[in-house]
Amino acid sequence: MLKRSIVGACLSLCLMSPVMAQSTSLTTQEKALIDWVEQRKSNILDELKTHVEINTGTANIAGLDRYRNILAGDLKKLGFKITTHSSEPIDVLSCQGGQIKIADHLVATRTGSAKNRVLMNGHMDTVFSKDDEFQTLKIMDDGVLKGPGVADMKGGIVIMINALRALHAQGLLDDSNLTVLFNSDEEIGSLGSRALIEELAKQHDVGLVYEGTYNNLATRARKGLGQARLRITGRESHAGGAHQEGVSASLEMAHKVIAVEELTDYERKVTVNTGVLSGGEKRNTVPGCADAYIDMRFPALEDGERLKKDIERIASKTVVSNPKYPELPKVESWAVLHRPVKPENPKVDALIAEAMALSELIGEPIVGTRYSGGGTDGSIAQGVGLATVDSLGMDGKGAHSSREESTVQSLIARTKLAAVMLARQLQR
Ligand SMILES: [Zn+2]
Repeated sequence: MLKRSIVGACLSLCLMSPVMAQSTSLTTQEKALIDWVEQRKSNILDELKTHVEINTGTANIAGLDRYRNILAGDLKKLGFKITTHSSEPIDVLSCQGGQIKIADHLVATRTGSAKNRVLMNGHMDTVFSKDDEFQTLKIMDDGVLKGPGVADMKGGIVIMINALRALHAQGLLDDSNLTVLFNSDEEIGSLGSRALIEELAKQHDVGLVYEGTYNNLATRARKGLGQARLRITGRESHAGGAHQEGVSASLEMAHKVIAVEELTDYERKVTVNTGVLSGGEKRNTVPGCADAYIDMRFPALEDGERLKKDIERIASKTVVSNPKYPELPKVESWAVLHRPVKPENPKVDALIAEAMALSELIGEPIVGTRYSGGGTDGSIAQGVGLATVDSLGMDGKGAHSSREESTVQSLIARTKLAAVMLARQLQR
């Protein structure tokens, strides 16, 4: 019997009542699932190495195609029906112009007479391009795993696949209503797959996302996310001989960046970050084009909507002027709120409480909850009404950097937890 309140590092949402680990015990069948995973530890680790070492940077379409085919083959063997789904390329508002191509997404379904319809999802893409120096999985003597996407989220995908295998070995997938979604564009904000996620979310009763976490905390609620781009066209001119003939796009952008960054309001938990900025091509030329790529985080939808309007307002007024060229500088803007706010939810809290209790019995206890400024596809699913737990993957740190790491212990413990939680869901 477990009965303890775990507040953990709930950070800014400490005002919420804490999630309590509910009491639970393991059935014989659940112990058999755990044994199945325990006996395959080295295979699971080998599989993670294979997955990590296939480069799936969002722009690496060939790498993502190869990875998706492997996953499709694995799921087919478990009796899933496989479909692939394409997304239109996305026009990019930048000085270079062009489009972002998106690799196809994978949907695997099993339909049966079970009542509770479960959607499991994960993303195949990582932030590491095929030219990145960080490409291999290093397994250290102390069980630390270092590799690109090891926790975010190749590890989560390996956990999902092996939990499904464990259930399949015991016939527990028979009659289930279960969908597995692997999308290929999460790291650019799921701009292509959002409609697919929403459509699937509406057809299910519970969502399980295997994104990584850190300090063994479950994420209880998340901020909403937005992104915006600005492109400014000025007039190029010789910086020495004809400075007065130029209209500096970079100078105009400098004013814009200051105005946009001033929208940050820590007290309201609103942040705006100009993450990418460029302008001009040559030192001795007045810059003719400048662009910026902006990130927004907000605690409530109205804050996000206001940020979007504020960025449009900032874009609509110019500071730099040259009477000879009154139409310049020209400012274009694009903004989207790509992930809804994910508020706390009683069904999610109950699932977290169950995961906390089970992890106490299985190993690698989930010690508390947190409020996160980062988004996942669980926010999109819950945004259309599907209660979703989104931090059931590997415990790790350093995500999105060459310091990304996790542990063998977390990989195995979370695979066991995923198998038991999924078995319970499919039998509800
Ligand atoms: Zn991720």
